[in-house]
Amino acid sequence: MIVPVPIALSEILPGVKEVLKQQGVKENHSISSKVMNLVETARRKFMDVAQPVGIKQELSTAEFADIFIGEGENDNSAPLSGIYPHADRLALFALTVGAEVSNLIAELVGSNDIALGYTLDAVASLAADNAAGLMEKQYHEAAFANQNSTIKVLGYSPGYCGWHISGQKKLFHYLKPETIGIILNDSFLMEPIKSVTGVLIAGKADIHIFKPDFSFCRVCRTHSCHSRLKSLKGERIEQWKS
Ligand code: SF4
Repeated sequence: MIVPVPIALSEILPGVKEVLKQQGVKENHSISSKVMNLVETARRKFMDVAQPVGIKQELSTAEFADIFIGEGENDNSAPLSGIYPHADRLALFALTVGAEVSNLIAELVGSNDIALGYTLDAVASLAADNAAGLMEKQYHEAAFANQNSTIKVLGYSPGYCGWHISGQKKLFHYLKPETIGIILNDSFLMEPIKSVTGVLIAGKADIHIFKPDFSFCRVCRTHSCHSRLKSLKGERIEQWKS
């Protein structure tokens, strides 16, 4: 059954420091009042226009196996292939911060307010990531609230870490994110662009641990697995890097 997931704006709005970091500003760098005002304005505009909404659907490992195969384009070493079979529970999810945010970003850039458009873009991207993190948290609380929790919930998305972007096709067929206004174009990109889809995998922390030295890691722009792995296994990732 597809169920709505509440996403409160106040819970996903990124902080000023988070936005500055996203824009490449070092933590102890002094910030001009002009830049601070820009970030605050972007955060306010986001709160004015964003309409976050999400859905999820529990499914079996066997059902996910078919979705994960997708169009047969995954990398053979995609870590998710070795993770999901060990899941205690899993659920597909989709979320968006809404079309109005993307429209406003385009409007600002089009009217030459590029700095504000760029900053709002950073705010919206971070908010979408925060919403995905909120989904992980809510799934954990709902499913494992009364258990001693060695269980970790992490989300994995098509287009990342060897799960080919064409995997969106089956995910959309199954979950129908169109019901919350997310559509998929012929290149498997989502509109609104500030949307996230994927699978929430709940299982023992160890199932989420892998060494990120796959061939596709060489062209990775985010290395976002590093902080996730660190949170699961302390400094082990640092040893892998040395
Ligand atoms: S380095 Fe990048 S591509 Fe490789 S596993 Fe980590 S996030 Fe995925």
